[in-house]
Amino acid sequence: MKVEIIAVGSELLLGQITNTNAAFMSKRLAEIGADIHYHTVVGDNPERLKEAIEIAEKRSNVLIFSGGLGPTKDDMTKETIANHIGVELASNEEALSYIEAFFKRSKRKMTDNNKKQALVFKDSTVLNNRTGMAPGMAIKKDGRHYILLPGPPHEMEPMLVDEVIPYLLKESGKQEVITSQVLKFYGIGEAELEHRIQPILDNQTNPTIAPLATADAVTLRITAKAESIEAAKGLIAPVEEEVRSIVGEYVFGTNDDTLSSRAFELLQKYGYTISAAESLTAGLFMAELGNEPGISAALSGGMIVYNEEVKVKQLGVSEHILSEYGIVSSECAEALALKVQAKFETDIGIGITGAAGPTPHDGEPAGTVWIGIALPNEAPVTHKLLLSGARNANRQRAVKFALYYLIKELTE
Ligand code: ATP
Repeated sequence: MKVEIIAVGSELLLGQITNTNAAFMSKRLAEIGADIHYHTVVGDNPERLKEAIEIAEKRSNVLIFSGGLGPTKDDMTKETIANHIGVELASNEEALSYIEAFFKRSKRKMTDNNKKQALVFKDSTVLNNRTGMAPGMAIKKDGRHYILLPGPPHEMEPMLVDEVIPYLLKESGKQEVITSQVLKFYGIGEAELEHRIQPILDNQTNPTIAPLATADAVTLRITAKAESIEAAKGLIAPVEEEVRSIVGEYVFGTNDDTLSSRAFELLQKYGYTISAAESLTAGLFMAELGNEPGISAALSGGMIVYNEEVKVKQLGVSEHILSEYGIVSSECAEALALKVQAKFETDIGIGITGAAGPTPHDGEPAGTVWIGIALPNEAPVTHKLLLSGARNANRQRAVKFALYYLIKELTE
């Protein structure tokens, strides 16, 4: 299968939206062993779409289109392809009754335009759209597959997985599937990780193991080929276990997990609330958690306690702690965590203090960070970091480490 993904939509060319559909399709199709040779983006223009199809036909035998199946005038993917490959459009009964029921339910008036959405290629395989109105379709013509999917990702993604992939597997008669499990690490560098699991890396065949460092994490992708997804997962499991037995302490999640999504997941699992007193990071920790939809269930609030006076007067940190141990100290991080936990009446309190740089702060070298975590029914813990980056990199990394240590506390 030589696949070309053709995303249709002028907004994509204007930079108003990003072509995430192509990224999603590529990932999922690679898992079944399809070769993705080209990504094409073309505007809502029949002439240029036709040109794009002619080019794709010369080099690919599976053409997957996304976008332009809607009821409006600029949605012309279906008509253009039908014209080009010489197939007729016919109304599909099932799709039409689905659209009619949708309008009845939402008490909206259906227009003739909407009926257009129920038109599919004659003799094509109709791909059901359970999260929207426009059905997709797949047809084989002159040895090539033309597969049409709607543009909205929440419609396209389930259709690709539930409809297109089974269609392609059936059509290709292919028995082999490829699946991966991604392990995500924090607090260990890529080189150190590779060194620690070298014997496993040296002996890899199926599954294969590929380390990769990104800004947010070091990842290890374990990929297996087998006759079925279950069999591939069966090959991955023992390798994953072996990796975890060596470097499991640094694993914070799998696949699409991020530090903040994983932390939120664990907070929800235990029904915990959290607050933070941030000196060094001045609100970045809470802003990071704030990226998670629904976080108000766990994140109660917190304080930016940048100067000494605010730490003492507003949060209630004892002056003695600051004069005796300093601002950049385990004692200060612990006091910040305990005081914010009490003040905001949360299960967990986080305290972050340190010397961001470029100059030393309160006698401590730039890059020294202390993270305090106050837990329910347990003694508070603190962690020291010695970071060597620029000022803002150190502040960002302090946030990531705070999330990482929080995850560790909630998983151990
Ligand atoms: P609709 O029935 O909603 O009109 P459609 O199949 O006609 O669906 P488009 O009108 O092309 O699809 O796109 C609808 C929306 O889907 C776009 O505004 C955009 O938000 C999203 N979208 C379209 N193509 C892509 C893409 N390649 N990547 C990510 N999002 C996309």
